[in-house]
Amino acid sequence: MRRREFLITSSVVGTNVLLGSQLVKSTGNLVAAEGGQRMAFTQPPLPYPMDALRPFLSEEQVAFHYGKHHAAYFRNLNNLVEGKPEAQLSLRELVIQAPAGPVFNNAAQAWNHSFYWDCLSPKGGGEPAGALGAAIARDFGSFAEFRAAMSDAGVKLFGSGWAWLAADKDGKLKILALSNAETPLKLGLEPVLTIDVWEHAYYIDYRHERAKYVEAFWGYVNWEFVAKCYAAATG
Ligand code: MN
Repeated sequence: MRRREFLITSSVVGTNVLLGSQLVKSTGNLVAAEGGQRMAFTQPPLPYPMDALRPFLSEEQVAFHYGKHHAAYFRNLNNLVEGKPEAQLSLRELVIQAPAGPVFNNAAQAWNHSFYWDCLSPKGGGEPAGALGAAIARDFGSFAEFRAAMSDAGVKLFGSGWAWLAADKDGKLKILALSNAETPLKLGLEPVLTIDVWEHAYYIDYRHERAKYVEAFWGYVNWEFVAKCYAAATG
């Protein structure tokens, strides 16, 4: 039997074997495309085509950010937790439980980026209505004041990190500027919206001009998703 035939046969009977990425697609097995071990954590598909966020983000910008940076956090994380109890947790639970260090950094960056992609939509922009719109007006005065404050948090954050809108258990909204992989999940708060302000998030399209990236971000916010997160945080 040739090697490839053996691999396919083995996967059908459930043996943990090396598979290429194409075979993963055809069998649906949860197996790493590289390395061959079963993957504890899988990068979710991008919720839209790579070029769907133009002109806010070019296809090249998204291809590098999603396909290189975000993918690497999943790959690193899977390598770090292989065969360890952490591999049995949900990604969210792992982010909450992991002590400071490489596992937390890669788990949180994996989770944060998936959340970031969900916060964006080619049909996004505008202002939220409903309970979220009311909470923003209550906690920040107006949508314009909220937007200015969150933009400011992202633009002024020194070094790499994320600007967050998060809710506490009473539904009160807070803006946080958190460095590196830090996330509201670690602070007992529920993430509602985020802006990735690591340079890799915007450097291809905006070079050093983070403020321009943050300004353009608002035209693509998926308020439907953000409102769902707020509802989940308060429900
Ligand atoms: Mn990023």
